[in-house]
Amino acid sequence: MARAAELDDLEDWVGRDPAGRSARAVEIEQDAAADGDAVSQMRARLIQADAAERSGELKAAAEAMWLINEWAHARGNRYLIARSHLLLGRTYRNLGDVAALLEHAVAAVEALEDTVPPRRRLPYVVKYADALTETGSIEAARERYRQAEELARHSTDIRDRMLVLNNHAYAESLAGEPERAWDVVRRMRATAAANNHRLDPNDLDTVASVQIALGHYDDAEQTILVAISGYPDGPQEADSLPEFLLTLATTRRMQGDLPNAQDTLNTCRDQCEAHGHGEILVRVMQEQAELYAAAGDFANAFAEHKRFHTAEKEVISAAREAQARSRQALFEVNEAREEAEQFREQARRDPLTGLRNRRYVDEQLPGMIEQAARTGAPLWAALLDLDHFKRVNDQCTHEVGDRVLIEVARLLIDAAPVGGFAARLGGEEFLLVVGGMDGEQVAGYLDRVRAGIAGHPWGPVTGELPVTVSIGADAAMPGSSQAELLAGADAQLYEAKRTGRDRVCVDAGAVERTRRVGSGRG
Ligand code: GH3
Ligand code: MG
Ligand code: MG
Repeated sequence: MARAAELDDLEDWVGRDPAGRSARAVEIEQDAAADGDAVSQMRARLIQADAAERSGELKAAAEAMWLINEWAHARGNRYLIARSHLLLGRTYRNLGDVAALLEHAVAAVEALEDTVPPRRRLPYVVKYADALTETGSIEAARERYRQAEELARHSTDIRDRMLVLNNHAYAESLAGEPERAWDVVRRMRATAAANNHRLDPNDLDTVASVQIALGHYDDAEQTILVAISGYPDGPQEADSLPEFLLTLATTRRMQGDLPNAQDTLNTCRDQCEAHGHGEILVRVMQEQAELYAAAGDFANAFAEHKRFHTAEKEVISAAREAQARSRQALFEVNEAREEAEQFREQARRDPLTGLRNRRYVDEQLPGMIEQAARTGAPLWAALLDLDHFKRVNDQCTHEVGDRVLIEVARLLIDAAPVGGFAARLGGEEFLLVVGGMDGEQVAGYLDRVRAGIAGHPWGPVTGELPVTVSIGADAAMPGSSQAELLAGADAQLYEAKRTGRDRVCVDAGAVERTRRVGSGRG
């Protein structure tokens, strides 16, 4: 299978076999790294985080998801921005923070591009609907479930339609609408029957919850027992079994079978404690309080109810803290990167004048020469050297000399042409890189630079002493090196010095080479 298609498949069905699919994602990540396929590498890494979350390693998963989210933002990869938000939403929901679920679900839907095919948009719309339900907006959620059903029609996989119906039914029962929930359950069963499909344990858990809400406790018990017995063949998500056990405990309490309800709840609590399902554990406390109350033990019911409320708050604040910590970690990574970038930038500037330095030139100029050779556009290097600069240092001071260098640099920054740059190569020697002009244009341009420096009001800086520059320029030839180009410009600079200073010399051959066809002939 092609890599992208296999990643699609792994993303869609991680929950069926988190460990196996995660192992495959590790292999794909390595192959993709070897090919320099960074996007596949990140997708494979996100699948591993998804699997880790489903195995109960929520916090580690959240951190990995944040890093991928950050990577995707830095590269403008909208698919991975969307997918990481989708998974972060589910992770924070499972940590008990439904506000964060909504935040991430919205961000995921927003980042998703129209070009993503309907079938693959499905989980985003469903997650958004779930988030709306859990934050109390069932009306808005219904509209999204309807949309999701439309999208599921594009799929040939019956499980996509079951997913939408399952989540919608669960949403209605959460919203206290058991009759509506039952309508959806009926459609779920009809769809399954028509397609020769058996409801999976998660679907059955939903059906049982709706049956409890309707007061059909015996039916609910039957349903959830089927789900529990089917568990090993069903989705291997870590929190599924405790969820089912909790449903069964509730069913038994409602049936009036309190000893069995307590046994089931104890098993469920053990599972939660063994695997760190904090969010389910809170609901176990809630169920325990109900169970005490059903037994007429109101003192314990009240005490347990208080524990439930405290634990619920703790779960939410722990989730918030986890989110804050992940963001802080990310902030620090960003800050370190910004510092590194700042350092990189600083290392490429001359500290006295703020102009680009020799290092920058060495990094940029060769590529510009190559590009000029490819496109045929002229590329000029002009060397500028201050005239009789020793006099400034000698007759004024070295500080005044520095002041002059800073002022000249400012004039060069202002004069630097678009697409080119100005640099200080060292001492009182500067470079202007100029693209696109023919010989006559560049001679005119450089003479304006020269005149601008000579005509600058230097009186306040140097008193009587004039400040002028000599300029020598040459154009790159196809295949010429940076050293050859600068040597050509240096020869012209020498010529400018030799013939009287405060002047511009441009290589005659370069003027000829860069003459535009049709210009200068008529
Ligand atoms: P020419 O017209 O032939 O170029 O004469 P010049 O006096 O400019 O001669 P040259 O280029 O040989 O001398 C450069 C002088 O620039 C030597 C040095 O003292 C001075 N210089 C180099 N770097 C700096 C600097 O950073 N600050 C100051 N103030 N002076 C510098
Ligand atoms: Mg010099
Ligand atoms: Mg000089």
